[in-house]
Parts: sequence; structure tokens; C-alpha cells
Amino acid sequence: MQKEEAEKKLQETMEKFMKLVSIRLPDDVLEKLKECRDKESSDMQKVIYDSYFENLDVAIKEQRPCCQDTGLLHFYLKAGSEFPYLGVVEEALRKATRNATRDIPLRQNTVNFFEERNTKDNTGERIPWIHWDIVPDDDHLEVCTYYAGGGCCLPGCAKVFTPFDGYGAIVKYVFDAVAGLGVNACPPLIVGVGLGTNVENAAVLSKIAYLRPLGTHHPNPKGAKMERDLCDGLNRLGIGAQGLPGKVAAMEVHIESSARHTATIAVGVNVACYAHRRGFITFDRDLKATIRGYRGAEL
Ligand code: SF4
Repeated sequence: MQKEEAEKKLQETMEKFMKLVSIRLPDDVLEKLKECRDKESSDMQKVIYDSYFENLDVAIKEQRPCCQDTGLLHFYLKAGSEFPYLGVVEEALRKATRNATRDIPLRQNTVNFFEERNTKDNTGERIPWIHWDIVPDDDHLEVCTYYAGGGCCLPGCAKVFTPFDGYGAIVKYVFDAVAGLGVNACPPLIVGVGLGTNVENAAVLSKIAYLRPLGTHHPNPKGAKMERDLCDGLNRLGIGAQGLPGKVAAMEVHIESSARHTATIAVGVNVACYAHRRGFITFDRDLKATIRGYRGAEL
């Protein structure tokens, strides 16, 4: 396939996929929200969850985005080193973002930093945000598409501690982020925690953490235990859906980690809201697309 043809095919498939992700929550998130509703006992919390579900149903019926804040587009790529169209991927994603903004439509959220002017098509300097991981000896391209709303970006933070501060500093930092601005991010939240050596690797890892499918755990048993303990603790804060009194502040806590410098412990926190518009699509070398996490959906 010629490069131009490949770029167009990638772009058009991504536009259809972005529409699906903007309208419908992935199955794992929807199922988890139902579990969260079952754990709540107050009438107010049940009413909030019911309004979430009603909103999500109407979005599908009307084929409209399920939240007014369609955010900025983030794409996390796992690109095989043998995927034949690596050179056209970024342009295809930028064009798909422009067209999706016009056609779905998405809210025009993107403002170039110093000009402070809305670009009106959700592209701008380094936006959509595209993060590459190269997978050696593989010929597929996986695109994790994520709509990053303003409310769920606000609580994000990263800090470097010393080992002298201990792991307790990690716990306090996560709790402060969730109990602070986290309540504005339309709980219940998926809390991503990145643990590493400096601010940028902790921040990126915290993002990768909350993009992970629900029900997955850190591969290290101690990491998996820390995920459970943090989630149990956050769910004793008395924060429920929409930040109002309730029992479930966090759907799950996910940790991703790296080795660290002996003198540093870096922590990043990123939260995702109940409207967790995250979807995975994989292209093979012939650009045949497979989506996962949306039962029965076709592009
Ligand atoms: S936090 Fe999420 S659900 Fe709430 S307004 Fe923002 S994007 Fe929408």
C-alpha cells in the first residue's frame, strides 16, 4: 500500500474509533461503575449513579459524546519496529483529530499556550499528545486513545521525595491529591500512581497506570498489595460519586513503577474520572483494525 493510501486508511479508521470512544465507555469501566453503585447505600449516591447510567444510555442513543468536556486527545502508541507505516502515524492522528472535532463533534478545547487563542480543531503545539513506545520485532500498531478532560487533569501532580521520607510520603501524597482536587474530577476515579526516580518518569508512569484495563494488577506482589491498600484507604475517606459523601472514591488504584536512584523516591499521581473514555485499537501490517473492550461494537 502506498504511504498516502495508508495514511488515509489509518486516519479514517481512527475517526470512527474516536467517535466510539467519545460516546461509549469501555465494558470494563461500565461494569466497574455498576459494582460501585451496588456498594453505595445512600439514596443520593444511587441517584447520582442512575443519572450517570441514564446519561451514558442517552449518549449511545443520540450518538453524542457522553460528557460535554471532550478534553484534549492523547494517544499512547505501542508501535512495532516492523510496522510498515510508522512515518505516517502522527499526521494521520492529527488529521483524524481535526475531522473528529468537526464531525462527531467534539468541543473545541485546545488553546495554544502563549497566544491564548483557540485553534478550533483540537490540534496545536504538540497536541494531540502522542506518546511512543517502540516494540522490537513486531509489525503491529496499538493506539490507546484517551480523552483528557480538564477536571480530571487538574489533580495531576508529581514530586520527588528522599528515601528518608519513606513510603508513607507516597501514601500521603496520593491521599492529598485525591482528597484535594480529586473531588472535582467526577469520582469514582481511577487513580494512576507512577513510582520512579524523577518527576517526568513518575508522571508518565502514572498516566500509563490509569490507562491499564481495570482488573489488572502490578506484576510485583508488593506493588499489587500497595494498589489494594491505597484503594481500600481512599475508599474510607467518605467521598463518593461527584465528590459528595459516599463510600467509593476510587474504582481502582493502578501503580506503574521503574527502578530509582538510591537517593530519590519520585511519585506521580494522575486521576481518571467516571467517564473514562479510553480505548484500545490495534492495526496489523495491512491496516486491518481490531478493537478491544467494546462488546459487539464494529467500526
Ligand atoms: S471530570 Fe470527566 S466526567 Fe467530569 S466533566 Fe470532566 S471529563 Fe466530564
